[in-house]
Amino acid sequence: MLEKQIPSKHEGKNIVGIFIDPASPTLSPKMHNYAFKKLGLKNWVYLRFNVKPEQLEEAVSDLRNPKLNIKGVNVTIPHKESILPYLDGLSSEAEKIGAVNTVMTNNGKIAGDNTDGKGFISSLKEDGHFDPKGKNAILWGAGGAGRAIMISLFENELKTLGILNRTLEKAEKMAKEMPDHAITVAQADTKNLVSALKNCDIFINVTPRGPEDSKLFTPSVFVYDAVYGKSTPLLEAAKTAGSPCLGGLGMLIRQGALSFSLWTGQKPPFDLMREALKDHA
Ligand code: NAP
Repeated sequence: MLEKQIPSKHEGKNIVGIFIDPASPTLSPKMHNYAFKKLGLKNWVYLRFNVKPEQLEEAVSDLRNPKLNIKGVNVTIPHKESILPYLDGLSSEAEKIGAVNTVMTNNGKIAGDNTDGKGFISSLKEDGHFDPKGKNAILWGAGGAGRAIMISLFENELKTLGILNRTLEKAEKMAKEMPDHAITVAQADTKNLVSALKNCDIFINVTPRGPEDSKLFTPSVFVYDAVYGKSTPLLEAAKTAGSPCLGGLGMLIRQGALSFSLWTGQKPPFDLMREALKDHA
């Protein structure tokens, strides 16, 4: 099924790309192809592969076909977890997170890695100038990105985490995955949020749309929105409240640059990818 999605002009090139639901938008081809061009990697191209859930197994099997010369792919919603049974091996990071966002092929073998957590932390520290060491955080959401962020925060010596999620059971399950850490869980509603924000240094939204009331926030809380785009209602609320804040574009760029590096062996091209997406910042 992948062969049909490779335009004939790219046959023979080193191909990478993204497995994505046909309805979802993505900025990844833009940033990767810009970096290939600027680095003079003329023989590389990044393609969008539309893959429906029922086509995933066939798509992974196509990655093993040497004729197609696919060096790897990014994996995004809804495939990040469902791809696991089809892979030959996982990095320790992907195993901890229980999800994959990067796949590498090597002589017919397929390995999975996850660069979301590292992308988040490097953006938080370097773009947001926020160090989670010894801090108290709230995670608003408990999906795949939330889990990657939770793990990376504790790897960076976060003190406590409150997970608030629409489906309480998912937050509870996530907390149980890290029994040695100080994690509390609650239903995601305004009352619980107001209470949790009383002892909070950083609020992180990992749902498609975070809370929007500026009265919730104060300048002492750093507000992070994993959603990327020019701005979001949550970031607007944070700005009104005078809270330092950061959107998810830096995380997108950094996780992408780390995947690029895994495939090509080049240094992660953070600055080039940022340049590619400057109109989206
Ligand atoms: P996911 O695994 O599908 O999880 C979605 C999360 O959002 C779950 O906690 C879900 O709650 C919650 N949610 C969804 N719709 C909701 C609604 N209408 N009201 C309240 N909660 C809702 O997705 P994900 O991969 O974690 O991604 C989450 C968000 O992070 C995405 O919207 C994406 O924009 C962003 N993201 C950004 C980057 C980046 O590089 N910047 C990378 C990955 C993701 P339930 O558990 O109750 O379903």
